[in-house]
Amino acid sequence: MATFQYDYLVVGAGLFGAVFAREATQTGKRVLVIDKRCHTGGNIYCEQIAGINVHKYGAHIFHTSNQEVWDYVNQFVSFNRYVNSPIANYRGKLYNLPFNMNTFYQLWGVTTPDEAKAKIEEQRAPFKHLDPQNLEEQALFLGGKDLYETLIKGYTEKQWGRPATQIPAFIIKRLPFRFTFDNNYFNDLYQGIPNGGYNALTNALFEGVEVRTGVNYFENKAELDGLAERVLYTGKIDEFFDCKLGQLEYRSLHFETEVLERENFQGNAVVNYTEKSVPYTRILEHKHFEFGTQEKTVVTREYPHEFSKDNEPYYPINDNVNNRLLEQYKALANEPVYQQKYLFGGRLADYKYYDMDDTIEAALALTKREL
Ligand code: UDP
Repeated sequence: MATFQYDYLVVGAGLFGAVFAREATQTGKRVLVIDKRCHTGGNIYCEQIAGINVHKYGAHIFHTSNQEVWDYVNQFVSFNRYVNSPIANYRGKLYNLPFNMNTFYQLWGVTTPDEAKAKIEEQRAPFKHLDPQNLEEQALFLGGKDLYETLIKGYTEKQWGRPATQIPAFIIKRLPFRFTFDNNYFNDLYQGIPNGGYNALTNALFEGVEVRTGVNYFENKAELDGLAERVLYTGKIDEFFDCKLGQLEYRSLHFETEVLERENFQGNAVVNYTEKSVPYTRILEHKHFEFGTQEKTVVTREYPHEFSKDNEPYYPINDNVNNRLLEQYKALANEPVYQQKYLFGGRLADYKYYDMDDTIEAALALTKREL
């Protein structure tokens, strides 16, 4: 019997790996965590610029209705009172999101729920006979032309890099309409940003855990595997198998961040630019996630991007073709030769569009099965 230095090697120091490492360490397991980046936290990592926590890999707003997950994270950090209320800018005019009475007033001047419902019915009328086959038809079927053209079409086509007629309908199967003046983007019971920023959460999870950053698993796979009895892999599932069945597709992002010598640039943490001709999808002004009062401000423009080896995989593209390929990789991962040694989990290994609470829920479920 081989003796191992560690019980678990965790590949990837993102939120999934962090929760697993915390729980395993707690139960007395010897855990080593590695990450190819030079920092922990994966995509929730924040970089301090001008005293402001900058969401380096895109905006992260913690929201959940899962009591267990909420109680879990609150052991490590407390949360501020941030509520996500993004604004949409279409040709210089501002609209509230998600679609609510404020939005309907801004679009059509309607002032009561009855007027708003009547207006939406009128807008939908020409498309009511449709059996929606793509995202464009689905959006028109649900909300009609004004809403679609002002707030959905341009943003969605930029985000996914193809015409809305070529995007599957399921992406917006349900367009929530709220007939109240409520700009809270989420319906969840709990929401906020960790006091002290996301790194405070990551650091608390990794307290007492051995972590090595700047370590590329694939450059030394055999040697690293040899250190531990079991390996939790949280990277891309296709990459684990050397893409031998084919490559899963992802949508990537590119960020341009600048420090501005002024206190307040846009008055909101998130402003979406919903017209096609503006090349970015949104501008983040990071200080507003934490009610910052610094003298300067930091803004980030977010550009959707093709995925390649040279950039980060942000969004899985869960269409039929990719989901079929995923099933093949999952079958491979379930073969006994891999099962004995490897565990898989997280957004990239599960190829799922996890929010942070989904990630924690999945990591805790794995923890219960495994430990
Ligand atoms: N969306 C849209 N207009 C907006 C914001 C979002 O049409 O102003 C659509 C778009 O198709 C997008 C999806 O809603 O891909 C999900 O966007 P959200 O901002 O909720 O997700 P995130 O990118 O922040 O994970």
